[in-house]
Amino acid sequence: MLAASGAGGMKRNSTIAACLMRTSDLLVPITDTPRFEAELLLAYTLGLSRAALLARLSEPVDMSCIEPLLARRLNHEPLAYIFGEWEFFGLPFFVEPPLLVPRPETEHLVETALKFVAAYAPALNSPCHIADICCGTGCVAIVLGHYLKGHHLYACDIRADAVAMTQRNAVRHHVPLHTVQGNLLDPFNALGDSFDVIISNPPYVPEGEWDDLSPVITKHEDPKALLAGSDGLDLIRHIIPEAWRRLRNGGLLALELGEGQGAAVAELLRKEGFDSIEMIRDLAGIERIISAVRNE
Ligand code: GLN
Repeated sequence: MLAASGAGGMKRNSTIAACLMRTSDLLVPITDTPRFEAELLLAYTLGLSRAALLARLSEPVDMSCIEPLLARRLNHEPLAYIFGEWEFFGLPFFVEPPLLVPRPETEHLVETALKFVAAYAPALNSPCHIADICCGTGCVAIVLGHYLKGHHLYACDIRADAVAMTQRNAVRHHVPLHTVQGNLLDPFNALGDSFDVIISNPPYVPEGEWDDLSPVITKHEDPKALLAGSDGLDLIRHIIPEAWRRLRNGGLLALELGEGQGAAVAELLRKEGFDSIEMIRDLAGIERIISAVRNE
């Protein structure tokens, strides 16, 4: 029943268990989790959940059915692009190449904003205005919108396809979101509002570190979503003064950073006038998020 019609002379009458074993062996050179990925790829190919697949290990399958997706993964394509969606903060997001695949460490950016708004909003007596700069798939703004009902969410990106994807994901999650295309905070100049929260996971990888990144990133994701000059801070240097101008007094700026950038960014924030600077480490212990408050 599960035997898909494969082309060519692959071994056709195999079992799911044998197909998983072979696929997993082939994935060993490119991933630390070959068996898990083999299960995800075969489940997706057969239109089954992973649990359903694992309940049918002895059933027959045409071994060749996995070849197209396996070839893509062996070319280091992210699973997120193969599946067309990826989970972030417990919600599924559509994603297409070359938009940045949502990463687990970015969940700390969302947590930082949620924590701030929980303490700040009750005293405000009006909705918060929250802007996500360099929104990519829109995952950060949309998760915030999902948990912060009644507040005004904005998202912008320089890429038209990122803005379109953000809109698509906002519709998927029924989050009212104001999306605009443009460079950093430029698109917001036309809006009279000041913001209570500005958040961003901007490009921050130093150009010299490109070759050290995984081929999963360098072969498939947009370098412009990752690279930011020789020290990785080119975009952050622009965002900090712009955010100062666009934030209300008492408002929060939160940024994702690369390893070792915390001290330099804290200094940029202090020089601009920000205070209450806080650093949040990710699960690997790396200083990953910096937040600061605009207090005059
Ligand atoms: N954390 C990402 C990586 O190293 C970089 C994301 C970014 O530049 N915003 O792949």
